[in-house]
Amino acid sequence: MTKSHLAGGRNPRAGRRRPWSPAAAVVVALVTAIVAAACTTGTWGAVDVDDRPRFAAREADDRVVVATTFTILADMARRVGGDRVRVESVTTPGADVHQYEPSVDDLKRVEGADLVVSNGLGMDDWLLRFIDGTDARHVITSEGVDPLPVRSGNYTGRPNPHAWMSPDEGARYIRTIARALTEVDPEGAEGYRARAEGYVAELDELASRARAAVAAVPQDRRVLVTCEGAFSYLARDLGLEELYLWPVNSESQGLPRQVTALIDEVRDREIPAVFCESTVSDAAMEQVADETGSRVAGVLYVDSLSAPSGPVPTYLDLLDHDLEIITRELTS
Ligand SMILES: [Zn+2]
Repeated sequence: MTKSHLAGGRNPRAGRRRPWSPAAAVVVALVTAIVAAACTTGTWGAVDVDDRPRFAAREADDRVVVATTFTILADMARRVGGDRVRVESVTTPGADVHQYEPSVDDLKRVEGADLVVSNGLGMDDWLLRFIDGTDARHVITSEGVDPLPVRSGNYTGRPNPHAWMSPDEGARYIRTIARALTEVDPEGAEGYRARAEGYVAELDELASRARAAVAAVPQDRRVLVTCEGAFSYLARDLGLEELYLWPVNSESQGLPRQVTALIDEVRDREIPAVFCESTVSDAAMEQVADETGSRVAGVLYVDSLSAPSGPVPTYLDLLDHDLEIITRELTS
C-alpha cells in the first residue's frame, strides 16, 4: 500500500497499534509451534530458527496481516480488507484442504498474523495445533451456520463443512470477517463494513440470477450429481437434489460400491449430466457417465479457487462458474 492512496495524504492508522510490536510474541510463538511440529513429525526437514531479520523487515508494513486456511477465505478477506490488509492462505490453489498437512514453508508464509481465519465445521482443524498457545486472534467463519449433516459414510452425522457454497451462508462469512477485522483494526471499521455490504450485495445479485436459472430447469432435471457431497448447502438454497460418489473428500473416494450405486441412480432417472470437482480425480465419474449414457459435463470448483489466471480466481467467480455450468447442462 502506498501512502499516496491514503486519505488526505496522512496515514489514517497513525494511532493504531502497530501489529508487529506487541505481536512479536505471536511471531515467536508461531515460529516455536512450527519448529515443534517439524521436530515432532520429523518429516518436514530442517527449520532455520535463527531467522530474526525478517521481523525487522516487516516493521515497515503496517497492514493487518490475515492468515486463512484456504483460498476462498483469503479472497473474502482481501475483498473486505481492501488495502488495509495483507492476506496469505496456508493452502494454495488446487490443494485438498481436508486433512491438509502444512509444510514449514506454508506456515512461514502466515507467521506473525494478526488474525487467523478458518472455516470450522471440522474441515480445517489441522490449523488448530499451530495457533494453540499463541495470542493470534482467531475467527471461525462458519460460526452461526446451522450445519447440515454428512448423510453417509464414516462421517455420518458430522457437520458438512462446505457452507460457503451457499450464497446466504457466504454472506454470513463475509460479515463475520468484517467484524473480526474491525476488532483487530477499529479505525478501519467503516471501510470494512462498507466493503462487506457491497460484496454481499453482489452475492445477493448472483444468488437471484441462480434461482431464476434453476426455475427454468425442468423439475425432474433438478438433480446435481458430483464427486464429493460438497454441494449440500447450495442445493438446499436452490431447491436441487444432491447425489454424489462420496460424502467428504477425506473419505475413501470412488469405491466400487459407490460407483455402482450412483450408476444405478443416474441410469434409472436418465440424468443427462454429471460433474466432478477440480481438486479430485474424475475417473470414477467418467465410469458413471460411460455406463449410463450421461456425460461428465464440466469441472466444478468447491474447495479451492483456481490460480489467478484460471477460470475462478475469486469466490464470486467460483459460484458464478459453477451455477452457470450446472443450470446450462441440466437444461440442455
Ligand atoms: Zn470438500
